[in-house]
Amino acid sequence: MIKAQYERPIIQRLNVGLMNKYGTKTEFNPVTHIDGNAVKELMETYGSPLFVLSEKTIRQTYKDATRAFKTRYPKVQFAWSYKTNYINAVCNVFHQEGSWAEVVSGFEYLKALHNNVPGDKIIFNGPDKKEVDLKLAIEHGSLIHIDHLDELYMIKELVAGGTKRPRVAIRVNMDTGIYPMWDRFGFNYEDGQAWDAINKIMLSGQMDLVGLHCHIGTFMLTPNAYGVAASKLSQLALSVMKKFKKKIEYIDLGGGFASKNTLKGSYIQGIDVSPTFDQYAEAISTSILNAGFTEDSLPLLILESGRALIDEAGYLLGSVISNKRLSDGRRATILDFGVNILFTSFWYDHKISPAQHFGQYSEDTVLYGPLCMNIDVVREHISFPPLKKDDQVVVHTVGAYNMTQWMQFIAMRPAVIMIDMDEKPHLIRKRETINSIQDEEVMPLYLEKFKIS
Ligand SMILES: *Cc1c(COP(=O)(O)O)cnc(C)c1O
Repeated sequence: MIKAQYERPIIQRLNVGLMNKYGTKTEFNPVTHIDGNAVKELMETYGSPLFVLSEKTIRQTYKDATRAFKTRYPKVQFAWSYKTNYINAVCNVFHQEGSWAEVVSGFEYLKALHNNVPGDKIIFNGPDKKEVDLKLAIEHGSLIHIDHLDELYMIKELVAGGTKRPRVAIRVNMDTGIYPMWDRFGFNYEDGQAWDAINKIMLSGQMDLVGLHCHIGTFMLTPNAYGVAASKLSQLALSVMKKFKKKIEYIDLGGGFASKNTLKGSYIQGIDVSPTFDQYAEAISTSILNAGFTEDSLPLLILESGRALIDEAGYLLGSVISNKRLSDGRRATILDFGVNILFTSFWYDHKISPAQHFGQYSEDTVLYGPLCMNIDVVREHISFPPLKKDDQVVVHTVGAYNMTQWMQFIAMRPAVIMIDMDEKPHLIRKRETINSIQDEEVMPLYLEKFKIS
């Protein structure tokens, strides 16, 4: 036998953003238009920075999602997660498509009512439902998803002696093989808390238990976790049927499907790793269909998808303020938007495209925002063509959470527009003015005057 020859191993440094073992990235194409509208003209009209939503993409994504589920399961209902993006025009696109509303606070509940969503098509989640919120939800016949025992007892107190029977569900948390487990919300499945809450509701004689809910996490890359969750909720529903002879009307699997964004630290881009709606739908429908329901006891399947339905439809347009060299030689570009309005840049390496044509070279660049804070970094490393002052950029996949988690820090929030199906832009949220902020402030009389000498 010939002894194999020793070969020296080669260690090669991988540069984030540059060529790595998966090849070069090819994200550099100028994006000059969005749905037929010139990016530069939009910024001229509405200012920079500017959020743009594509109604076409929202409706198309919604159709993809509903098709994936409806071809696999007979009764499916989506409920729009308000906290993902609660600009009214956005909510109404989803409502026009047939979506119910899913809210997690009294404020969001009022927003859904103001949008004229019928009370019985509003799902009320969240750990902080105030007494006034619960009263309103009971009055409007909304679906109240109970988060903890204190809430259960508060509802019992509110309906004692009255004639209204609230329609409730419980939020269940469970081990789906994904850690850390989101066990701070709702009642645990494995340790019997959920079954205990069900018994307390069923034997109270004061409420109708109509559903079972869970929301196992967010940006879940494992469809099978939903299969496990669907099967555990199904077992609970079947146990209720067996013990109380009562049919559970719906199983609500919450949100959490991944969008096509790229999580920080991931080598492969989101577009290649995020599961499709079909994969989620396959895991969920298989579990429920195999759980042991008869045809007429099959529950309605509710989904509260947020980010997966809107992220791709959102763009943030902005401009270059200046360029610098950092002390280590890297190129740094300062943009007119930062983490104040792009909160998700803490989690994602957003895809960013220049908004004008450029030469063939690119360089490892840091993209900073305009805030006077060291944490204001839009991209730590991006291989990017050198941009000049006043050049413009388009950030992709920003439709989810940025327009609700944006903060008002040293600058006012920008305008938001939606481009309709005929490629016509509409202003859907005005750019804030100094008054948007000053109007809420109150100056005590004795502080009104001063003299600086
Ligand atoms: C946030 C939230 C959603 C939406 O989550 P996504 O990850 O955006 O899909 C749905 N249901 C509940 C209860 C939530 O808290």
